[in-house]
Amino acid sequence: MSREVRECHADERIQEVCREFINVIATCTGDDPKREGLLDTPSRIADMYEFLLSGYKREEEIPKLMSRQFEEEDYNQIVSVTGIDYFSLCEHHLAPFFGKVHVGYIPQNKKVVGISKIPRLVDIFARRLQQQERLTHEIAETLDKYLQPKGVIVVVEGIHLCMRSRGVETPNATMKTSAVRGAFRNDPTLEQKFYEIIKMNNL
Ligand code: ZN
Repeated sequence: MSREVRECHADERIQEVCREFINVIATCTGDDPKREGLLDTPSRIADMYEFLLSGYKREEEIPKLMSRQFEEEDYNQIVSVTGIDYFSLCEHHLAPFFGKVHVGYIPQNKKVVGISKIPRLVDIFARRLQQQERLTHEIAETLDKYLQPKGVIVVVEGIHLCMRSRGVETPNATMKTSAVRGAFRNDPTLEQKFYEIIKMNNL
């Protein structure tokens, strides 16, 4: 968590709240909040959430990551990085959602970012309280801002445990979101081409 959050004693406070949460569940269900399996649960939860929310404190890495560009000789085709695994936290239920991110862009002024930088960017935005739509948008927005490509497209596939674990209507559903900008928006055949690239990745 960020320096500011640490100064708020987030770890202790989360533990306190979790202890109370477990007490409420126990009181209402007749479970024993003092049984051994639950004793260290508050501190385990605090540790886990510090990791799941670690993207906030890494925000400052973004300009550095995106500045690691190299010049590619007038490459005007789609540069794509597909099948990037991510793990995030649904802000509506504090339950995990996870899946794959696919990114494509068409460079302009020879600006291409190092291939390993995109998965790191995805991770920074994923590890926070999120919505899949916003995650998709933030990745596209950042690439647009730093690379100023001719076009950018981001497609995110997500399995949401808040939906699947409750077995609501479509327990096997996968959510798909996309952000399409510039040339990909203006030319539907480019967008189509990108979806074909994603399919190739799944072979
Ligand atoms: Zn949810």
